[in-house]
Amino acid sequence: APAPLPAATAPRIPPTRLALHHFDINYSLQLKERWPSVRAGLLCEQKYGALLNNFSLPDHVTQELELLNATDFIAEATKKVRSVAAAEEAGRGQSSAGRMVMQAETMTQAEMSPPLCASMSSNIKCYTFPRGDITRFRPARPNTLGILDYYLMDAASLLPVLALNVQPDDFVLDLCAAPGGKTLALLQTGACGHLAANDISISRTKRLHQILHSYVPKEIREIVNVTSCDGRDWERLEGGTFHKVLVDVPCTTDRHSVMEDDNNIFHKRRTKERQMLPMLQLQLLMAGILATRPGAEVVYSTCSLSPLQNEHVIERAIEIAETQFNIAVRVEDLSHFRTLFQDTFSFFPDCRLGELVLPHLTANFGPMYFCKLCRM
Ligand code: SAM
Repeated sequence: APAPLPAATAPRIPPTRLALHHFDINYSLQLKERWPSVRAGLLCEQKYGALLNNFSLPDHVTQELELLNATDFIAEATKKVRSVAAAEEAGRGQSSAGRMVMQAETMTQAEMSPPLCASMSSNIKCYTFPRGDITRFRPARPNTLGILDYYLMDAASLLPVLALNVQPDDFVLDLCAAPGGKTLALLQTGACGHLAANDISISRTKRLHQILHSYVPKEIREIVNVTSCDGRDWERLEGGTFHKVLVDVPCTTDRHSVMEDDNNIFHKRRTKERQMLPMLQLQLLMAGILATRPGAEVVYSTCSLSPLQNEHVIERAIEIAETQFNIAVRVEDLSHFRTLFQDTFSFFPDCRLGELVLPHLTANFGPMYFCKLCRM
């Protein structure tokens, strides 16, 4: 038999293969018959959404996108809510069809049920191509003032921002903010009274600064305070004053991990770091909870399918908040997101806590897990 190869010359298994092997074992148990289709999605080109930049007056851009058959998935969901509400109204004994249409058109957000209304009042506009249409968006272009017209991102990344439901003058904290896609979306709501955008990585906060400069006029940038602290220290540094906190934690970035060998968390030398992720995520979520004022809300999100990084972190955080800090935290129901956005995203129907967008060949967004907590 041939002598075993010395360690230095043994064939290296690329981290992408290690990641896929790890996911095959774990996610086939979790997702069962859905896993082969999710796996195919992860291994194929992902879909983007074009987050319109409200600060660049994008009228001609919307026309251009609509000619290409792209639609604003948030506006589409709003339309659907209105027609369903109108149909329900008609079912309650309204006689004329004409009256029904009029009511649908004139229905204000205050008349919709609170959760639906909440997720719709955002000002965020994001165009996507229909299911099965894999057209790519052209790169963003500057207007005459040099402000870019849209930001290309995974459209599912907007769901945590929509779930946060920023209200006028809210103090908002984005604890792990760089490179800044969600920070930009938070600013598009036009509602933030103050926005603290933090990320531990100096190089990534530079990227966040660049995005703010390319998309946001100076007077709006003034409400944003960018810092590079360890988010776990937030309590000690700043205390708890925020109405809304987004905790978009570092995770196994499942799509990246099966596609790119560079900077891959499944690299052998990063095993320890990977195993420590759920602990880091828990500490960051705890810092996020402690940064809130009573009655405030926190959205936790990852781009991983792993329950250890998703539901388990939520459960542990609720327990620790209660036992160590005497803070009661409640999980908010976001199941209406599944109904609202089912035309755009494939949701996992069996998520125990929070919501999970599954990659799918016809709607290749995500993975994106998000869960909303309310501090009592
Ligand atoms: N929210 C960002 C966006 O939408 O563009 C993406 C955030 S990314 C998923 C996670 C970020 O957490 C990384 O930029 C990473 O540098 C940052 N991070 C890692 N550990 C951190 C810590 N201890 N405190 C604050 N940020 C941390």
